[in-house]
Amino acid sequence: MHTFEFIRPTDPGSAIAVAAQSKTAQQGADVRFMGGGTTLIDLMKLNVETPDRVLDINRLPLDKIEATPDGGLKIGATVRNSDLAHHPKVQKDYLVLSQAILNGASAQIRNMATVGGNLLQRTRCVYFRDTAMSCNKREPGSGCPAITGHNRTLAILGTSEHCIATNPSDMCVAMAALEATIHVQIPKGSRAIPFGDFHLLPGNTPHRETVLEPGDLITHVTLPPPIVGSKQLYLKLRDRASYEFALASAAIVLTITDGKITRARVALGGVGTKPWRSPEAERALTGQTANEATFHQAAEAALRGAEPQSENRFKIELAKRCLTHALRTVVIT
Ligand SMILES: Cc1cc2nc3c(=O)[nH]c(=O)nc-3n(C[C@H](O)[C@H](O)[C@H](O)COP(=O)(O)OP(=O)(O)OC[C@H]3O[C@@H](n4cnc5c(N)ncnc54)[C@H](O)[C@@H]3O)c2cc1C
Ligand code: SF4
Repeated sequence: MHTFEFIRPTDPGSAIAVAAQSKTAQQGADVRFMGGGTTLIDLMKLNVETPDRVLDINRLPLDKIEATPDGGLKIGATVRNSDLAHHPKVQKDYLVLSQAILNGASAQIRNMATVGGNLLQRTRCVYFRDTAMSCNKREPGSGCPAITGHNRTLAILGTSEHCIATNPSDMCVAMAALEATIHVQIPKGSRAIPFGDFHLLPGNTPHRETVLEPGDLITHVTLPPPIVGSKQLYLKLRDRASYEFALASAAIVLTITDGKITRARVALGGVGTKPWRSPEAERALTGQTANEATFHQAAEAALRGAEPQSENRFKIELAKRCLTHALRTVVIT
């Protein structure tokens, strides 16, 4: 493994000042923050990530879950995935988030993994993780062997001719449906990024995955006040029952009054190059009677733009069934 300097800052300002010296905050960064290390150290062992300096942010005061004045929730960047999933307020008001997290990885990994790290976890595309292969995301301009190669688990929405890698996070799918905001401290101030604007589509720059710049430290995520009476569900379909990434998943937050859907938030996982909020499905649901015909129309709308590759056409039908089943289930619970 590449040698590196390990730094344990105790205040955000000094951590940000060091990170700001990096030439990029994207692939190839020479300074990296470390939360749980379950993505970063993994990729450093594979030589996919080769930072010269690693800043362990676990001593920074970013590990609290607190109510916000407007009735929402503020979640610190180093809050462990397990702690978030089991927090009473999350289980009561943001159930879809708890379910999504508990559907991911293993108990041991969730105990280590942080909220900030989960937002920035990298694709599981096998070519990205193998430095013997070319990959536009790892080495811009080198090519994308996945398009003609092994692409069964890769994306069908938001792809480009340069990259079809799936965003693998479960937590992020729920956060997209909950309309979270990501808060970043930057060398001079701070900024709040709506969840849907945080991850980038691959386009012709798949090595750029988020809007983060050198020195940008995610400090916390906020959730808006809970929607009173909303029904929530995360459904994940995968090759085996645990310890496996999604082939297709759906996060649903639905409000139903007198049999009619008055508010719908829908996001899909396992199928998009970023956590995939579906305004098309939301439009197809809103104002309609909560029945099978409506659910099927929403699923058709959500997958209308899908572009499958040689091995992953099955994901279109799988994602439609995932969404319809999630909607059916959430309505009767
Ligand atoms: C075997 C295995 C199975 C898994 N299965 C699943 C699964 O089914 N579903 C799922 O969703 N996930 C799964 N994961 C991924 C897991 O959820 C992530 O590895 C984890 O969430 C990353 O969090 P971390 O704190 O360990 O990140 P780290 O490895 O510490 O960091 C990841 C990235 O985020 C950056 N970073 C971290 N914190 C900050 C911050 N505050 N500000 C700016 N940058 C920051 C780091 O520099 C790094 O680039 C799996 C992982 C493994 C190893
Ligand atoms: S899909 Fe993306 S990550 Fe995978 S090989 Fe192609 S460019 Fe690399």
